[in-house]
Amino acid sequence: MDLLYTTTSGVTGVSDNWNNCHDARDGVTIWFAAGGYWTSQNSEMNRCYSSVASTGQNQSVAAHELGHMIALDHNFTKSPCSAVALMNPYTSQRYGSRGINKPTTDDTNGVNSIY
Ligand SMILES: [Zn+2]
Repeated sequence: MDLLYTTTSGVTGVSDNWNNCHDARDGVTIWFAAGGYWTSQNSEMNRCYSSVASTGQNQSVAAHELGHMIALDHNFTKSPCSAVALMNPYTSQRYGSRGINKPTTDDTNGVNSIY
């Protein structure tokens, strides 16, 4: 899976070149800074998990990491069911139990509060 796009700082996006079955994380987003400014972000999905996950689960991980790219943090709320957000850090709670693979109202509210 490669969801690459171009920003003003260069090519970035979500790739699945990371392959580490000893790491429990199925995705990660790293921000880079220089001169006191954020310059780029890179998100990767762990191929150890993405290679055997369903399309919907991979979409959930990729969309979650893209949420980090636009500065959303984790939302640990897990009840009631309707409150679980795309930015819940646990794929098992976010997708496994509820099939969330796109932004929820909480996520869009978070984006609107930032921007
Ligand atoms: Zn996360």
